Amino acid sequence: MQIPFMRLDRQFADNRQQFMDAVEKVFTHGKVLQAKEVSDLEERIAGYFALPYGVAVGSGTDALILGMKALGLKPGGKVAVTSLSFVASASAIVHAGGVPVFVDVENEHYMAREDILLDLVKSGQVDGVVAVHLYGQMTELSEVYAEAKKRGIFVIEDAAQALGATRNGVQPGQYSDVTCVSFDPTKVIGAQGSGGLALAREHHVAEHMKRLRYHGHAGQRVYTEIGHNSQLPTVQAAIVGAKLDHEEAWRNRRLEIAAAFTKTLDRLPYASAPKVREGNTHIFHKYVMTVPNHRDALSAHLKNAGIGTSVHYSMPLNEQPCFAGMHQCAGDMSGVKRACAQVLSLPIYPELTDEEVRYICEALKAFKG
Ligand SMILES: *Cc1c(COP(=O)(O)O)cnc(C)c1O
Repeated sequence: MQIPFMRLDRQFADNRQQFMDAVEKVFTHGKVLQAKEVSDLEERIAGYFALPYGVAVGSGTDALILGMKALGLKPGGKVAVTSLSFVASASAIVHAGGVPVFVDVENEHYMAREDILLDLVKSGQVDGVVAVHLYGQMTELSEVYAEAKKRGIFVIEDAAQALGATRNGVQPGQYSDVTCVSFDPTKVIGAQGSGGLALAREHHVAEHMKRLRYHGHAGQRVYTEIGHNSQLPTVQAAIVGAKLDHEEAWRNRRLEIAAAFTKTLDRLPYASAPKVREGNTHIFHKYVMTVPNHRDALSAHLKNAGIGTSVHYSMPLNEQPCFAGMHQCAGDMSGVKRACAQVLSLPIYPELTDEEVRYICEALKAFKG
């Protein structure tokens, strides 16, 4: 059996008519940029997160960049960010003119240590925070945001991996100034290409991001600042809209698969299942287990069985060459080092069949550590 780590072909096969109808509608009316499908999606996602404003852009990365610019990040401004995430959580800071301050992670859920974040905010050592909700569950932000507000420090939520997640019954967006979503094809709701969306609680921030996404255009062919060209194509907005209809069903299926993996791992000595933080609903965008001693051997064993795995992430962001000479660290970075050596992600997409899920579980059981 061959079970690749990711596959979008089945999703298309299952929903061909709906996706093709959405495409046909856009190509027929011909307004391929900034049509009603785009503003409809902005409203729908904003409604989903219970936030007033949505701004569709070309990628989740651009949502972060435009968000930080609209929140007034100054050149050289310092922004705290986890040391364990996709590179874009931090490269966006550099693109927006800032300097990343990488925060070590805790050992349970692998998110930025709250004690370090609070210390950076309370002591005024940072001008902003990019808070990443990792793998599909949320990080705790209420106190960080309250302390940041007192000091005029911005908080951005990177919710690229957390669409559908809640913490204490609340979705991302309630403890930040801007929340960013990604429609990268690897995400739970992906475009057939790139896409992203930034959500704001203040009108002027949303309007600023709208100007920034199109050359700083303030209307009447007047350009008030140097902006970007980062638009979500109408056809992608239409496809994302179609996929959103399936968000709950797809999430429930991922939860079923995650439960089967966890049941298996709970009986195995060599690995542990992902821990869900109390108060969280995890959407299992990624199913990341911890394998303290034999991670690479397990990955090879699964590969031999035809099962694709991945490592999220294999290198601390503070060690990535692209940030050399332009970052700081907060903490001794032992947490992130350990995480990078021990994490392993299993395939988890709603189109996995029960038979494939069983096969993966049997392959896990067959590994002798
Ligand atoms: C995917 C991702 C991004 C970037 O989104 P793109 O749409 O790929 O630009 C940013 N942060 C995190 C945590 C991500 O997983």
